[in-house]
Amino acid sequence: MIKDYWQNYIDGNWVDGGAGRISVVNPGTGEKLSEHALANAADVDRAVQAAKRVHLSGVLSDLRPVERGRMVTAIGRYLLEHIDDIAPVLTLEQGKPLWESRIEIEGAARYFEYYGNQAETVEGRSIPLGAGYFDFTTYEPFGVSAQIIPWNYPVEMTARSLSAALATGNATVIKTPEMTPLTNAWFAHAAEAVGLPSGAVNIICGLGAEAGAALSAHPDVNQIVFTGSVATGVAIASAAAKNVVPCVLELGGKSAAIVHDDADLDAFENDVRWGIYFNAGQVCSAMSRVIVNENIHDELVDRVANIAKGLKVGPGIDLPEFGANMGAIVSEAQRDRAADMVSDAVSEGAEVVTGGRKMNAPGAFLEPTVLRNVTPDMTIANEEVFGPVLSVLKFSTDEEAIEIANGTPYGLVGGVFTKDINRATKAAQKIRAGQVFVNEWYAGGVETPFGGYGKSGYGREKGREALWNYVQTKNVAIKLSG
Ligand code: NAD
Repeated sequence: MIKDYWQNYIDGNWVDGGAGRISVVNPGTGEKLSEHALANAADVDRAVQAAKRVHLSGVLSDLRPVERGRMVTAIGRYLLEHIDDIAPVLTLEQGKPLWESRIEIEGAARYFEYYGNQAETVEGRSIPLGAGYFDFTTYEPFGVSAQIIPWNYPVEMTARSLSAALATGNATVIKTPEMTPLTNAWFAHAAEAVGLPSGAVNIICGLGAEAGAALSAHPDVNQIVFTGSVATGVAIASAAAKNVVPCVLELGGKSAAIVHDDADLDAFENDVRWGIYFNAGQVCSAMSRVIVNENIHDELVDRVANIAKGLKVGPGIDLPEFGANMGAIVSEAQRDRAADMVSDAVSEGAEVVTGGRKMNAPGAFLEPTVLRNVTPDMTIANEEVFGPVLSVLKFSTDEEAIEIANGTPYGLVGGVFTKDINRATKAAQKIRAGQVFVNEWYAGGVETPFGGYGKSGYGREKGREALWNYVQTKNVAIKLSG
């Protein structure tokens, strides 16, 4: 069903990689799925030069924004038209259930709809300087936007940055994740189908330490967007700093839901389902900690354990329908890392309520897991597992709940669950995170800005706020004569 070799896309051409090929493994079976061309630094340079040529030619940046916007929205439509082709490939390379792949592709299309519609709204203002002057500001694209993509949502994460970059007139080089590079090919097909000039969208797969590092250090890259781990974010930001290039960094989290004793626990079960078991917990904004009032602790633990136990786990390709099920983790290495973190937590005093074991089946499966007796000092309460592992902690006062929630180096999102609007609002003010959900985890959407405090990164994606990461401000002050 899947072709056995996929190429990189540079300057409008499908090309082999200077670093050879990489095997892509199906985490649902552990078997090799396909091969992908692997870029080296020379390929990266060709892609950057192609994007630079597009930028300097003005073929993209000089367009009337409505024209660019139409092409961007058309990419979203293209993805939806091809969802039946893309979804199975995404499931086979990444492990998620087929229905989740469809949700991811719909989410990706939504980014192109939103930012395509925003293209015309990036406008400057005139600043009065008194008689004899006329002054205005404009916003110009940076030029070459480099985008380094993680493996957890390869389609949606590329869509998030590519849509905003193109809407604002940047040319792009996308470094796809080496474990899940296949589905990004559809962005190249879409770029061609909607009439973008060759070189406006370049898509290359390569190893992080080779192609990723070469891209982030390239002197002709003008702006970088990265989603992934803190360590890699630091490496990329350091490389960017040497070229004095701005970055947007989205580096994950250890996000907490504070659950008060007046919360609607029936509704909260659904938040747990989506918050920690969607995409097998491989979500930067996952609800990886629940901090619950001691009065309802035991009831809540029973409820979340039942949610976890109710999930059928198996190869995503066998899970076409929305329902109580979960797919594989992206790789056996990532699965083992998550399982080891659970064992370490137990040796630190946490108790497994359910799950915690690798499943006795081929592929990278981990049982949906709930841990109780987790305390704020434990590693599991501070480090990102990036797997289906929920840590339950207890609190007795509102202040203590906030202190625990804010007690990690991260600050991506947070949540508070209560019927008391004052309590919710005060918590929202005090939680150190870029986004706070009240009574629904993942409330919000493409329209709402998203990004981190602390080690979760800087800059914002989503919403109108994200547009300003892709443009630079120019002020023009004119001295009038006569
Ligand atoms: P990573 O951050 O190393 O990889 C993400 C991307 O960065 C990939 O495209 C990779 O090729 C690239 N990369 C790696 N090293 C690079 C370098 N030196 N220069 C430029 N690019 C480089 O993530 P990982 O090693 O695949 O996963 C490790 C952990 O990262 C996970 O367990 C998880 O905690 C976290 N993670 C978070 C997210 C997120 O959405 N926040 C996504 C993926 C991984």
